[in-house]
Amino acid sequence: MLKYTLFVGKEYTLKETMKAWFLTGPGKMEMFEVPVPELKPGFLLAQVLTAQASVTETNVITLEDDIFGLLPRIEKEGKISLPGHEHVSRVVAVNPDSKFKVGDRVSTLAKITCGYCKGCQADKPRECEHPSWMGITNDGMFSEYVLLQESGLITVPENLTDSEAANLQPLADCIAAVDTTSLKEGDTVAIFGMGCLGMSTLQIVKASNPSKLIAIDVKQENLELAKSLGATDIINGREVDPVATIKALTGGKGADIVIDCAGGNPKKGLAGTVVLQQAVKSARPEGELLILAMYGDFVEFPIGVVRTYGQRVTFPYFTTLDHMRKGAQLISEGKLNVECMVTHVLEGIEKVPEMFEITGNKTSVKSLNPAQVIISK
Ligand SMILES: [Zn+2]
Repeated sequence: MLKYTLFVGKEYTLKETMKAWFLTGPGKMEMFEVPVPELKPGFLLAQVLTAQASVTETNVITLEDDIFGLLPRIEKEGKISLPGHEHVSRVVAVNPDSKFKVGDRVSTLAKITCGYCKGCQADKPRECEHPSWMGITNDGMFSEYVLLQESGLITVPENLTDSEAANLQPLADCIAAVDTTSLKEGDTVAIFGMGCLGMSTLQIVKASNPSKLIAIDVKQENLELAKSLGATDIINGREVDPVATIKALTGGKGADIVIDCAGGNPKKGLAGTVVLQQAVKSARPEGELLILAMYGDFVEFPIGVVRTYGQRVTFPYFTTLDHMRKGAQLISEGKLNVECMVTHVLEGIEKVPEMFEITGNKTSVKSLNPAQVIISK
């Protein structure tokens, strides 16, 4: 028996059971009717509005590498909540001490700090002693309702659409990444890879007024979109040598900052390590290379060039709630367009497997963003 009756705009009684997707084996997802979770300390209950799988999650559910140890949990429990962390949801029930209120729309960080340990109290989120992962250690949100850990939530401004808000977490990762660099006004910046990561990063860099913002990809239609979003120059790596072209565009020096948003597993339609090598060679002496792309453990890397020219190689900072808020603000102010990347929107919770299928094959179906699924309105 549920203890609360809720109001979301109109009078509304929470159901006792809900539809929720579970992972029951390698790549195997099944939907069950289960009890709506009850509130617990530090968490609120929300109705999921729009959700999307990340490309990482399409890999995680295959359980091939199983870096999160999900298979033993499935073997023990029979089913676990289907991994998922990119969403916007509406709060339907809170604890008395909550900072949120019923009716708020909220979105979540992927890695959530506990908020009470020594590191958290000292405002050093990287040193959190008890972090949790949305969709891994906490339930994923491919369900009608979800319990959300309050220390990982922001309130979404009302002028953002559900589709935009569902993208706030990956966007915040790009903002955290750009924060890692010493980017300043007037710099020359080259970004390899105009997928959703590159396209978001391009717009974030644009907000700092670089003197040149060079976008590199092999797909002309993506380059045209990059141009419309603020790239000053576009380079099709299939037609010309990106390194020579970037050098020519920067007076022979190379770019101040080069960002790799392209590399990754070639089996998944990504660019492999060729781009990483081009990226290093495109940076000026004492320039910076920021690597956002995900690689396996070992890659061929031109360390001689980096050493000779005293370049700095950096990786993104830890993403915080401030990065999420900054993303929401940039969209709100019209400085960032994420909706132009959303091409596939499905309706109804039963479409979750189709959404995973599209997201896992983004390149072949010409989708920039992960597909989205509208679970409730
Ligand atoms: Zn902590």
